[in-house]
Amino acid sequence: MFIRSGVLVIISRPDKTTRYTFFKTLRFRILLIIVVMGILPTILVSTMVLTGYERRAIEDRSETARTHGRVICSGLLRSDYLKGGQDEEIEAEVRAVADLYGGRARILNESACVIRDSYNIEVGHFIFTPEVEDCLKGNEKDVYNRNDSRVSIYLSVLPENSDSAAGCVVISFSTLDIIHGKALLTRQYAVLTALIAVVILVAGYVLSGRLVEPFRKLTQAINTSSSYQDKPLFAPEYVETDQIAVAFNHMLSQVKTVDDSREEFVSNVSHELKTPLASMKVLADSLNSNPDATLEMYQEFMKDISEEIDRENVIISDLMELVKLDGNSEELKIESCDIRGLLELVVKRLQPIAEQSGVDLRLECFRPVTAEIDETKIILSISNLVENAIKYGKPGEGWVQISLNADKSFCYISVADNGIGMSEDVKAHIFERFYRGDKSHSSDIKGTGLGLSIARSGIAAHKGAISVESKPGEGTTFSVRFPLVYVA
Ligand code: ATP
Ligand code: MG
Repeated sequence: MFIRSGVLVIISRPDKTTRYTFFKTLRFRILLIIVVMGILPTILVSTMVLTGYERRAIEDRSETARTHGRVICSGLLRSDYLKGGQDEEIEAEVRAVADLYGGRARILNESACVIRDSYNIEVGHFIFTPEVEDCLKGNEKDVYNRNDSRVSIYLSVLPENSDSAAGCVVISFSTLDIIHGKALLTRQYAVLTALIAVVILVAGYVLSGRLVEPFRKLTQAINTSSSYQDKPLFAPEYVETDQIAVAFNHMLSQVKTVDDSREEFVSNVSHELKTPLASMKVLADSLNSNPDATLEMYQEFMKDISEEIDRENVIISDLMELVKLDGNSEELKIESCDIRGLLELVVKRLQPIAEQSGVDLRLECFRPVTAEIDETKIILSISNLVENAIKYGKPGEGWVQISLNADKSFCYISVADNGIGMSEDVKAHIFERFYRGDKSHSSDIKGTGLGLSIARSGIAAHKGAISVESKPGEGTTFSVRFPLVYVA
């Protein structure tokens, strides 16, 4: 139930605890990308077109004005206009400039005095601006004054083979119509951009919704899947959703495996604990229902009841040991320990049982080994292996060989016997709790099937490993390995 409810907690969490804002959703990110990718180019293009339009229009107009200015300049060089003379061609050009978008032509002599102004307002005035001074030195330039929207072109009247100008022609024209045209275009582009933005926004909203739809469906499927019995999730729309579904199915199957093994463990525990109780009940009932029961009968039955209580005790203490080992490694009392001494202690303790079973118990140490371990746990693990080797040995001709070795990092202990061995089928299950091998021998040889689980948990608590090799009728070898330095 706990694990099941654990799964439910994970699945239902988004509904109960997480508060989503639209800005954090994948849909919003996609929408943002679509909008940026769609609108930004429109804005960029319109900006480029508008600035390009203004620049090109002014350049075109300047070119026309410059052409007129050049004609006036060459007329001035050819005639004595600057010295008070008249020239019809120059006058025609000045009029042509005047027709040009608020155009104005001014002719200045070498003293910067205006001798001709198409506006007729500055004739006789001197103009001492830097541009005029530069122009009289032969440096022509164009000046765009944005404040009064006018372009002025300064052209030097430069006689051949001379550095200083004989005069200066200033052609200016208005750019107001270009600026108005640009403003109109800008407004049109703004309306167009706004329209495009609305279309992109609506299309993006719909499209992003479609794109994230498989993820929404997957979440819904996960939220509504209530138990392991549900069909596996299937979301092939995208590789990503498929991977999530596969990962979820995998996780669910792992949880199911854990749950199954836990259920099996609980039922095994109940069964194992009930068996001695059932025997005690039968023994006690038969005494109660027999009024003629003799004292000997009572003594014999009570002895059986006591044995069953002992058995129950062994099971319970084994289980307690397992629970402790499976708990956490904080309970380990890690100390530096001489492993050879530890194995000698195991041999000494089990020697009487070995002798009783007619099994020869040998210890072989290749080198002295010191390791950081919880002594009690390792003794318990190794004792379980040696006990098994004796228990499942060949009485009279059996031997058990315990070997100790080490390298720089690990300690290696093996427990080998020439006992009854085990089949591949049995071998596959021996580390499972309450598992006992061949039923034929397991009824003769007493045990609960917890010994190897305890041994394995003890070794695993030290980040070690245990493996087994066995052949039926030939013998079994358990190999244990754990690090010399304790790994927390
Ligand atoms: P206990 O909990 O009292 O140790 P057990 O010995 O039956 O009971 P385990 O030690 O977990 O339980 O062993 C599980 C099974 O593995 C045994 O029932 C036996 O069939 C098999 N087994 C273990 N060690 C050996 C061995 N050295 N030779 C042959 N079979 C073995
Ligand atoms: Mg055992």
